[in-house]
Amino acid sequence: MPVGKVVKADLADDQNQAGFGSRAPRWAIAYKLPAVEEITKLIAVEWNVGRTGIIAPRAELKPVEIDGSVVTYATLHNAADITRRGLRLGDSVTVYKAGNIIPRVQAPLVHLRTGAEQPIVFPQVCPNCGDAIDTSQERWRCVRGRACRALASITYAAGRDQLDIETLAASRIQQLLDAGFITDFADLFTVTREQLLTLERMGATSADKLLAAIETAKTRPLSRVFCALGVRGTGRSMSRRIARHFGSMEAILAADADAVQAVDGMGVEKAKLMLEELAELRPLIGKLIAAGVNMTEPGAVAAPADPVADGEGSGEAPAAELPLAGMAVVATGAMTGPLEALSRNQVNELIERAGGKASSSVSAKTSLLVAGEKAGSKRAKAEGLGVRIVTCEEFADLVAGFL
Ligand SMILES: [Zn+2]
Repeated sequence: MPVGKVVKADLADDQNQAGFGSRAPRWAIAYKLPAVEEITKLIAVEWNVGRTGIIAPRAELKPVEIDGSVVTYATLHNAADITRRGLRLGDSVTVYKAGNIIPRVQAPLVHLRTGAEQPIVFPQVCPNCGDAIDTSQERWRCVRGRACRALASITYAAGRDQLDIETLAASRIQQLLDAGFITDFADLFTVTREQLLTLERMGATSADKLLAAIETAKTRPLSRVFCALGVRGTGRSMSRRIARHFGSMEAILAADADAVQAVDGMGVEKAKLMLEELAELRPLIGKLIAAGVNMTEPGAVAAPADPVADGEGSGEAPAAELPLAGMAVVATGAMTGPLEALSRNQVNELIERAGGKASSSVSAKTSLLVAGEKAGSKRAKAEGLGVRIVTCEEFADLVAGFL
C-alpha cells in the first residue's frame, strides 16, 4: 500500500483562491511518499512447504536495515513471480518494507550485474516429502496437500489456541504418525489406550493423562475447532467471527459464497478460498463429528437462511445489553491482575463474548484500549486519537460477568 500525504490549504480564502482543477480541488494535493526501499544482495532462495502443502519461495538477503528493522528474509510470492522479475542469485535487488508489511523483493538492478550471478533453481519435487508438485496454479502445492505436512497440521490443531490438547508434544504426534495410528488430527479422537501403550516413553499414567486431555478437547467451542482445521486465511479472529455468525458447523457447511461473505471482514476471494478448502476438509470434519467433537458455538445464534438478514447474535442476552456491544476493542502490552493468566487469544475471546469486536490495531474506529504493562506504540497511538484507555483491572470489572 503506498504511503501518502495530503497537503491542504486550510483557510477558506486560500481554498477559494486556488480553486478547483478539472478532477480535484487545487488546494489539496496528494503527494506519494517514496517507498521504504533499500538495495541489498539476494544470497539464496529457500522453498518452504506450508501447513496446507503450499510451496513458497523465500529470499535470503544480505542483512539490510529498512524502516527501522534489519531485514534478512523477504517474500518472493511464487515461482512465476521470480520468473517475471528475472531474478538471479547474487543479484543486487531492491527490497520494500513499510510498517507491518512483510518485506518483499521488488526487482533486480540489472546494470549492477557482474556476470557471476546464477539462475535460481526451482524444486522438481516437494522439498518436504519428495512427492510431485502440482504446478497448475501460480502457487505451487505438494500433491499430498495437507498430508505432506501432517505433523505441522496436527501440531497446529492441538495447539493452545486451537484444541489445546495438553501433554501432546510434536514428538508424540510424530510417534503416532510413524506408528500409523493417526493420519490427521481427527484420528487423535479414536486412538486407543492399547495403542498409546505400545509407544516408547509412554507409561500408563501419561497415556491416561493424554486420553483425558483428548476427551476435554472434544468440548472446545466451534471457533477453536474451526480454527484447528487450518483453513488458509482463517486464523483465530476470523474463526471466532465465523463461529459466532453461523453458530454451528452444520450451518457453515450449508453456506454458499453469498452466505459466507456476510461474515464481518470476509471478502469475495477469502470466501471462495474458504469454501474450496472446506470441500477438501469434509472427510476430516465428518470424522470429527463422528468422534463426538463439539460443533456449536456457545452463546451464538445460528445465522438465518437469508444471508441479507443480520446473522450476528449473542445468545441469551440481546447484543445491546452486553457490556462491549458495538465496541472495537484492542488489548496491548502484558496483561496483569485478573487477566494475567489469559493468552492474547483468550483476551480476544473474552472481548467477543462480552459483545465487542477484538482487533489488533488501533485506529480512529477503536472504542477502547486495554493497556497492560509496557503498552508501547499502541497506547501512544490511542492517546493521540483520544481513544478511551483502561487498565487490565478496570477492564476485568467491565466484563466481570464474562471472565
Ligand atoms: Zn510434500
